[in-house]
Amino acid sequence: MVIPVYILLSWLLSVDPAQEDAYKAEREQMVEQQMKRRGISDKAVLHAMRSVPRHLFVPPAIASKAYQDNALPIGHNQTISQPYMVAYMTEAIKPKPGMKVLEIGTGSGYQAAVLAEIVKQVYTIEIIPEHGKMAAARLKQLGYDNVEVKIGDGYAGWEAHAPFDAIVVTAGAESVPPPLFEQLKEGGRMVIPVGPVYRTQTLKLIEKKRGKAVTRNLMPVVFVPFTREGRKK
Ligand code: SAH
Repeated sequence: MVIPVYILLSWLLSVDPAQEDAYKAEREQMVEQQMKRRGISDKAVLHAMRSVPRHLFVPPAIASKAYQDNALPIGHNQTISQPYMVAYMTEAIKPKPGMKVLEIGTGSGYQAAVLAEIVKQVYTIEIIPEHGKMAAARLKQLGYDNVEVKIGDGYAGWEAHAPFDAIVVTAGAESVPPPLFEQLKEGGRMVIPVGPVYRTQTLKLIEKKRGKAVTRNLMPVVFVPFTREGRKK
């Protein structure tokens, strides 16, 4: 009996080709309806959103909801951001192929994967060990070898790899952690939700110009809180 190569391969990878095609079509629709229509136009960002298999970043039980226009629970009271928000934040930093980007709040690893499709290197920090470990394993399995995950408090940034061309913070902070601004390159950009915990925050774009922060408010957002190691959560 001859087993076609694609069946053998998909079995080895535990992937159902018909299901994968269906998800690909859902991604295409997501990009058209949730991104392009709302003004996301950066080609690299749209390409990344079309490429990353978001359904593999959510718990298997809700994989079929992965391309919906909303955030989804990923366990430990955390969420994977709404697809549009991921695209919007990625576009806001003006990602370019040579860039080195720091993300705070790895979560599922989805935002890191989207960045990794475009930029040269992504460093990402997650404070909940289970999420950090799972995201690292998932990213590795999917071949994102330009992402490095660290478990710890992202407040301090990642000095060893600084400075960064851009920083993406995916948890709502009460204020901008000074170490993160310090680790931003001159001319670099940071997107960060700032505001009171569990209330509407403001997504801010901060550019470093002659060492100073030039801040622009982008839109109201609701992110899970930025927590601190050893502090009251
Ligand atoms: N970017 C993620 C979504 C993140 S949800 C994704 O694409 O799936 C926000 C994440 O930030 C949570 O996993 C939370 O545990 C993490 N987080 C909160 N405070 C943090 C901190 N101080 N340092 C690092 N990670 C933090």
